[in-house]
Amino acid sequence: MKRKEKILLLYPGEFYSKGWGRFIHLKPHMVYIYTYLKQFFDVIVVDLENEFSRPETSEELSAFKANGLKRILDLEADLVALSCWSSLNYLSSVYFAEKLKQHRPETTIVVGGYHPTFMPGDFTYPGSPFDHVVTGEIQNIFQAIHKAFFKEIDTYRIIPDFRTYPYFDNQRTLGIFLGAGCPFNCRYCMEYKKKWSSLPVDDAVALIKGLAHEMNPRYFTIFDACFGLNKKWRKAFLSALARADLNCYFWLETRVDVIDEDDLELMSRLKIKIDFGIDSFSASMLKIMNKTLDPNAFLKKFVRISSICNQLGILHDVYLIFDHPGETRETYAEFRQFFQDVVTPQLEGGHLRVKYQRFAFYPGNYIFNHQELFTRKYGFKANAPAWWKQEGNHYLRSRDVVPSIDENGRPFHVPLKEASKMVKAFNKKAKQEALWKRLHAFDL
Ligand code: SF4
Repeated sequence: MKRKEKILLLYPGEFYSKGWGRFIHLKPHMVYIYTYLKQFFDVIVVDLENEFSRPETSEELSAFKANGLKRILDLEADLVALSCWSSLNYLSSVYFAEKLKQHRPETTIVVGGYHPTFMPGDFTYPGSPFDHVVTGEIQNIFQAIHKAFFKEIDTYRIIPDFRTYPYFDNQRTLGIFLGAGCPFNCRYCMEYKKKWSSLPVDDAVALIKGLAHEMNPRYFTIFDACFGLNKKWRKAFLSALARADLNCYFWLETRVDVIDEDDLELMSRLKIKIDFGIDSFSASMLKIMNKTLDPNAFLKKFVRISSICNQLGILHDVYLIFDHPGETRETYAEFRQFFQDVVTPQLEGGHLRVKYQRFAFYPGNYIFNHQELFTRKYGFKANAPAWWKQEGNHYLRSRDVVPSIDENGRPFHVPLKEASKMVKAFNKKAKQEALWKRLHAFDL
C-alpha cells in the first residue's frame, strides 16, 4: 500500500506579542485543521507556543528560535504546512520557513491562515521559502498541491478530533465552530466570509452532546463570528440545547440587534456567558465603524438586552474599541455621557462587564484597504503601517495610530487613564467575579 505523505502542521508562535490575547493550548483552528488533514496525510502537529511559551525578552526570543528550529529539524516530513493564523505569526512563519528551506531545500513549504489570505504578497518576495500560499480555508491546500483531492467543504462541518490531537491533555474547555460568516461590514473586522451559514440544528446539538458524552468537558467555547444570526435556527438550537440538559458552561459572541427577549429566556436555562460586540457607546463612532445603520436604536437595544441579562443572571460582557479612526474629542464626550447617564445608572451592579481595547491596525480589513479615505476625512495615520514585518512590541506598534487630527492640527487620543478608571469602577460592582474570571480566561 502506498504510504501516506507525512505533513508537519506547524504553529510557529509569536515573536513580539507577549501578553496579547489569550494563550490557548488547545487551539480550535489547529484541532480542526489537524482533523481534516489526517484523512489524507500522516500528520505531525507541532505548536511551538505550547512547547516553548511566548518569548518576553530578547534572550527568550533567541532561545525560542533555537529550540523551535531544533524541534522541527528533528522531524522528518515531506511537506510542512505553516499556520500563519494572524499577522502576529508573520515573522515567526518567515523565520522558520527560511531556516527550514536552508536545511532541507527539498521540503515543500505551504503557508495558510488569515494573514496569507489577506496579504499573499507578503510570502512571495524574491528568495521566499514558501512554495505555496494558501488563501481561505484548509481545503484550499489541495488547490496548491494534489488538485485531484480538492473538494469544497465548510470547515465547521469537520467533527474535531480532540482526543488524538497531540496537545489534548484532558482540558475541560473545548473550542468548537457551529457555523461561519457574518454579513455585517464593521470597518475594523477581519471576517472575510460575508454569508452566514451553520450546521443544521440537529447536527449542531449532536456535536455538542457527542463531545459532552465522550470528553466530559466543563465549558464549550463557540467561536462563530456571529452566533445565531438566523432567528429560526437560533431558537431551535437554543431550545434543543436547553432540553439536552448538559452540565456545561457555554460561551458565544453575538450582537444585541440579533438577540431578543425569548432568546435570553432560553439562554437563561443554560449556563452561559455572552460577549456582545457593541464597540462604542458613541452613536457617531458606531456610524463611522459601520456597526449599524441606526446607532441610537442599537444603543437602546443594548440597554434593553443587558437589563434583561441582569434580571436573568446571565453573565455578559460588552467590548469597546477606543481610538478607532475618526475618534475625536466629541465622540469621546458621547461615550462619557452615555456611560455616565445611561449605562452606569441602569446597568451597574448586575452581570455586565465592560471590556475595552485600543484600535489595532490590522492588514486586510476595510480600514487597511481604505486608509486614504480615513486620512482625508479625519487625519487618521498608522505610524507603523507594516508593523507585523518589524521587530519590536507588536501590541504597541499595531496600536500606534493617530485616530484623528483636531481643529488645531493636533492628534487626538482618548484619555485612556480616565476611561479605564470609569470602566474599572463599573466592573468592580459586577456580580460573580470568580466565575466570570474563569469563564473569561477560557479556563474551567
Ligand atoms: S465585528 Fe462582528 S458583527 Fe461586525 S462584521 Fe465582524 S463578525 Fe460581523
